[in-house]
Amino acid sequence: MFVRNFPLSEATSLGVGGCADYFARPTTEEELISALRFAEERNLDVVVLGYGTNVLVRSGGIRGLVIQMADNFAHHRVDGTTITASAGCMFSAVSKLAAHHSLTGLEFAVGIPGGIGGAVFMNAGAYDGEIGPLIRQVNFVTAAGPGSWHADEFTYSYRHSRVQQERIIVTSVVLGLRPGSKDDILGKMHELQAKRQARQPLEFPSAGSTFKRPAGHYVGPMIEEAGLKGYRIGGAEVSTKHAGFIINRGGATADDFLHLIQYIQREIKQRFNVDLEPEIRILGSL
Ligand SMILES: Cc1cc2nc3c(=O)[nH]c(=O)nc-3n(C[C@H](O)[C@H](O)[C@H](O)COP(=O)(O)OP(=O)(O)OC[C@H]3O[C@@H](n4cnc5c(N)ncnc54)[C@H](O)[C@@H]3O)c2cc1C
Repeated sequence: MFVRNFPLSEATSLGVGGCADYFARPTTEEELISALRFAEERNLDVVVLGYGTNVLVRSGGIRGLVIQMADNFAHHRVDGTTITASAGCMFSAVSKLAAHHSLTGLEFAVGIPGGIGGAVFMNAGAYDGEIGPLIRQVNFVTAAGPGSWHADEFTYSYRHSRVQQERIIVTSVVLGLRPGSKDDILGKMHELQAKRQARQPLEFPSAGSTFKRPAGHYVGPMIEEAGLKGYRIGGAEVSTKHAGFIINRGGATADDFLHLIQYIQREIKQRFNVDLEPEIRILGSL
């Protein structure tokens, strides 16, 4: 069940970072709980990954156990207007599933890479939509066993959710949607997908928007105004298509990304007196 010294560059969209001491891809809740107990008995830190589309793993890798909840843990069920999706279901695929069943509410998620578990953790969203308000129930496990939160126990805000404070692993989520017109739903999804393709550097590896949007400001235009579009450190580059993204132009290292993030933060602080907080999750040791 465990792979030793697994290169996390293979499990993240940026394609950089060191190794995990132990790496597991459980396929059932029982396997997941036994992986957590394995870690607890050995006093190992546990880090969960979905599809790794919102993380930067440092070059020293992760000392402990990395548990991946991706296509190894992906089942879904549609009951009337609710969809139950396991953590490893791709968010975008669940949005297409909703459309197929003429359910509206998830159009915004088309084109957001990654899984439902990561989306719940991040309260992922786009174009005025986010997953938080759709959640009816979050199911999870800890080393002590399974648990769940109902909608009123699941708190969230912009790119933040209760999951970020608690050491739980999301196993599945129940989403509440509304009946709609399939044509309207598909039309909206095509429109949003086209916007994404026109504006985002999807042809290069990235982890999406690097920074959270600070109140009252837009990150991309500020970085552009600071003259940083196209600025490069090693193989990491501020995208010329969308300055809010940092892309891997080839051969980038985790340190290239970290140095570029810090450089942008310094420049934006100096020029606009704004503190940029990374949206991407920076994991592991130097
Ligand atoms: C090109 C591109 C475009 C993007 N566009 C958007 C966008 O429009 N909107 C948006 O919100 N995001 C966007 N993202 C970021 C990313 O796709 C989302 O945040 C996504 O929901 C992350 O899912 P993941 O499975 O890849 O999570 P990961 O990157 O693997 O993990 C993200 C965080 O969630 C935690 N996590 C993952 N799974 C679980 C689980 N089962 N239980 C508990 N914690 C877990 C991880 O520990 C980590 O801290 C984009 C990324 C890319 C590359």
